[in-house]
Amino acid sequence: MYASARHSLVIVSNRLPFTVEPRPEGPLFTRSPGGLVTALEPVLSDRGGVWIGWNGLNTDDAGDLAGFAPESQSGVRYRALPLSAREVARYYEGFSNRTLWPLFHYFVSSTRIDARTWRTYEQVNQRFAEAAVQESDPDSMIWIHDYQLLRVPHYLRQHHERARIGFFLHVPFPSADVFRVLPWSRAIMRGMLGADLVGFHVQSYAEHFLLCAERLLGCEVDSKAGIVQFEGRQVSVQAHPIGVDVAHIEALASAAPPRPDVTEPGDGVAQVLGVDRLDYSKGLHQRLLSIERLFELHPMHRGRVTFTQILVPSRERVKEYEQLKRDIDETIGRVNGKFSEGGWTPIRYMVRSFPQDELMCRYHQAHVALVTPLRDGMNLVAKEYVAAQVSNDGVLILSELAGAAEELQEALLVNPFDVEAVTEALHSALTMPRDERRARMSALRDRVRANDVHGWIRRFLQAAGLAWDRARNTDLSPSDRVRRALEGWLGTRSTVAVFVDYDGTLTPIVDRPEEAVLSDAVRELLEQAARVPYLDLVVVSGRALDDVRSRVPIPGITVVGNHGFEIEGPGISYRHPHVDAHRANIERAAGDLARIDAPGTQVEQKGATVAFHVRRVDSARKGEAVTQALSVLRDRGLEVMVGNQVVEGRPPLDWHKGRAVLHVLRERHGANWPSKVRVIYIGDDTTDQDAFRSLRGIGRSIQVGRARNGTATADFMLPDPAAVLQFLRWLVSGGFVSPG
Ligand code: UDP
Repeated sequence: MYASARHSLVIVSNRLPFTVEPRPEGPLFTRSPGGLVTALEPVLSDRGGVWIGWNGLNTDDAGDLAGFAPESQSGVRYRALPLSAREVARYYEGFSNRTLWPLFHYFVSSTRIDARTWRTYEQVNQRFAEAAVQESDPDSMIWIHDYQLLRVPHYLRQHHERARIGFFLHVPFPSADVFRVLPWSRAIMRGMLGADLVGFHVQSYAEHFLLCAERLLGCEVDSKAGIVQFEGRQVSVQAHPIGVDVAHIEALASAAPPRPDVTEPGDGVAQVLGVDRLDYSKGLHQRLLSIERLFELHPMHRGRVTFTQILVPSRERVKEYEQLKRDIDETIGRVNGKFSEGGWTPIRYMVRSFPQDELMCRYHQAHVALVTPLRDGMNLVAKEYVAAQVSNDGVLILSELAGAAEELQEALLVNPFDVEAVTEALHSALTMPRDERRARMSALRDRVRANDVHGWIRRFLQAAGLAWDRARNTDLSPSDRVRRALEGWLGTRSTVAVFVDYDGTLTPIVDRPEEAVLSDAVRELLEQAARVPYLDLVVVSGRALDDVRSRVPIPGITVVGNHGFEIEGPGISYRHPHVDAHRANIERAAGDLARIDAPGTQVEQKGATVAFHVRRVDSARKGEAVTQALSVLRDRGLEVMVGNQVVEGRPPLDWHKGRAVLHVLRERHGANWPSKVRVIYIGDDTTDQDAFRSLRGIGRSIQVGRARNGTATADFMLPDPAAVLQFLRWLVSGGFVSPG
């Protein structure tokens, strides 16, 4: 356990708010500029907080320094989460920046789909969650930031059902049709829905998210109230547009020299400013073309207007960004070559990061700001420019595809793809009468002032607290949650087929398989279920059919044995046609397994399949026993399944629990069973995953306990056989049957 004080506010973001440079005399930490960092630190300091993130180094190049953070400043502690070079390449440069970033900004064709990067993203998100757990206590508010950490809320919620979790996304959330391009879109939705409050910059992103919850996960959604029913909790989904540190910007801008007025001919050169990270989402190429068009269509601006573009280098190790830089260099060279004359150059271009005071001074000096991203979550430059116009002058040209456009309606709003329209907006801005400039800018300034970054933090944390209260007031037991989610769906068919696994689902897992017997309560309930006309109950097991039958001696219940190779029940008697051909081989494999020398192993010869149990083997010898069993089974040409404390060998036939379930449904209800029957499958084992997959979209699956390989494919989860019993009771009671 990590030896640290627990914190009442835990901020989790990909990057810590500083850069680190290894120096011979010791690491040099430089604080990142920006309003969010400056605004969060006093809050963290007041509440006693910790900030968890990556420090930008990697363990392969920087060793221990990658886990290093500066000493606590004014009560704020930083915790660096060390990442290896490979993790940085896959989690950060890969999944975050080559998959999520382009997709969320609608660059669908640039979106890389690579399962390896996704797996690393999962692992790193899990590590972030573990670090947050170590730094928090049950009352802490954990605030997770941005697209690099979409799965963290889920892992936190798994760890602590009642944790207080807020999540804020700083980039756009795309529409459902774009989002579902991602093969892991459902996992990501579940990840974010682990929070009590999911916050976005603007209402349209929140609406996209709500629709995805409904469409991709089938959640009940109240879109007016911004509430998603998810696993028995009410998750709040809201827009909280981020603000900037207005007072600080005003102070810096007021210290800048006054801006010359250049509305009259001969007054001097008007300054148009662009400030962006070097990123393809910023629309830099189109912007340069509109500058070119300005000097072509309105020659009056030649020699009288200069466009300065500040570009902050970014993600230099991602290939697309190198190409972008080359394109921009080329276009600027071309435009400057075409129009420069008598000491005047149309475009000035600086590729570096500026300190805040200098940047605010440049904002203040600019007559026009050209902010034309093709897509942007918010765009802080637009708000910073407005805040820096202390004399209520200056014109903002703003892309209507930036989140900021929802608030900054008095800007000259443009479609950034429409080069001619941006050119005309520039011309209007440069010729705009002073009265109009002032009217627009003072309205914009009021807006930006009313929602500064301090207010944003306060409001988000308050909303997250309220969301937590609301989520808790609807606290339900796990089986009630599944019940809630399924009742509407079940009520629309006259029959419900329920497939239940035996070991670990109807009975708790025990040391010796022969000791797993039904409790009286479960047996009585199954007897009742067998008499209910709208229920069709099937017990599915890896055990031999006769074995299951003797444990569930209830007429009217269908039994599937040997992972599906044998089925028996009312109107159905099935044995896989090729299973007998493998019988001798299974017997020989059973003999080989019995010769493995490790005390506590148990071989279960089940006819069609064979199982090798290791639950009672000493843990030091378990690994070796499993390895030997695997090689015995493979040598015999059998298909191998590794389950919970068991290794199984079965004939290499394309048949499993999933196919057996579909067989039962077809035999019993006809080929068009989906239009007559609702199907639920409940199971805990790896072999049940086959059934979960076969039923995807045509039935509902419930995982009992945690999925062993970590990635649950089931629709719902119940913690243990006791919760299964509760859920079955409800099915038997018929609470979902619609009257009449
Ligand atoms: N910025 C900076 N130094 C510079 C240029 C920009 O600190 O030389 C800051 C700028 O003040 C703004 C941020 O970088 O706060 C850019 O944020 P924005 O939302 O516009 O775009 P993002 O980079 O997040 O996509």
